[in-house]
Amino acid sequence: MSNNGRHAKVLILGAGPAGLSAALYAARAELAPVVLTGMQLGGQAALTHLIENYPGFPEGVGGAQLGELFQKQAEHFGAKVEFDMAHEVDFSKRPYAVTADSGEYTADTVIITTGASPNHLQIPGEVELTGRGVSYCATCDGWFFKDKKVVVVGGGDSALEEGLFITRYASSVTIIHRRDELRASPILQTRAMNHPKINFIWDTVVTEIAGSEKLESLKLKNVKTGEESIFETDGLFIFIGHTPNTQMFKGKLDMNELGYIQVNDKMETNVRGVYAAGEAADPHFKQVITSAGMGAAAAIQATRLLEAESG
Ligand code: NAP
Repeated sequence: MSNNGRHAKVLILGAGPAGLSAALYAARAELAPVVLTGMQLGGQAALTHLIENYPGFPEGVGGAQLGELFQKQAEHFGAKVEFDMAHEVDFSKRPYAVTADSGEYTADTVIITTGASPNHLQIPGEVELTGRGVSYCATCDGWFFKDKKVVVVGGGDSALEEGLFITRYASSVTIIHRRDELRASPILQTRAMNHPKINFIWDTVVTEIAGSEKLESLKLKNVKTGEESIFETDGLFIFIGHTPNTQMFKGKLDMNELGYIQVNDKMETNVRGVYAAGEAADPHFKQVITSAGMGAAAAIQATRLLEAESG
């Protein structure tokens, strides 16, 4: 980086699988990329206990460990990882400007890999009891529920994978799903259905979370019969999908109606030299490997642009 270390040829926003793969490729192209990590080094993958579907690790690999390996490999080739959080961008002229906690960076190209954050149920009691029985991360909080009764809400891969993880600690895991059919992949469905500690409540939503000092019970409603009931539990883990972390790009980049940044097959946004990769731009796949692939593609494309521009 030149300009007192505040200008980068390639500035990468986010340090999950997409951002760190982009950093690896840009570093190997000798572009000395700078990565602003944001809140979560390693991205959402770092919160996953075990990743079993990233090739090259037949026994699986810890999510945090994989993130560290990605970082090490990118740094080995010259990427600079800054523990800094971007909160404003100016894409109106090049070099582009990015304002972060530590001040302003400028960049010839920007690769956005800001990922996604877990959705909330938005029901009474959720905010008040988060951290006091309500959680969005089994790897972070599962340990607190040793020999306790836990509920998981959701029917996707996250709900089942995390529910299976919590069985290490909890005495029982009840998965509450709003339909009578799961969205999760068959392999996880089979594992969860056959697990002695896991049971399911179908066609049901949680409408209220109650407790004074800590979570005590949930109000449930059967969506088919309308019947309401109270379910006592010590823990509630919510895995009902994600929203892309793209608020700061609203009005500056083309997005779809759900807030995913629109990219073409070269990871290019509608602004020259600005690319997006990983879950910020992926409403379809959301896998560590697809995010890593998108990040690599974005960096290759940024490299080609910079080479073309330097003549
Ligand atoms: P998801 O696939 O979008 O599933 C969200 C689940 O939450 C769905 O079952 C949905 O119900 C339910 N839901 C949504 N809003 C709800 C609400 N307001 N109240 C109650 N239930 C609600 O999200 P995800 O499980 O987080 O997975 C996201 C992506 O990451 C997916 O592409 C997934 O394949 C991937 N992923 C993969 C792995 C893996 O490969 N091992 C692990 C984790 C995640 P409906 O089904 O009725 O819509």
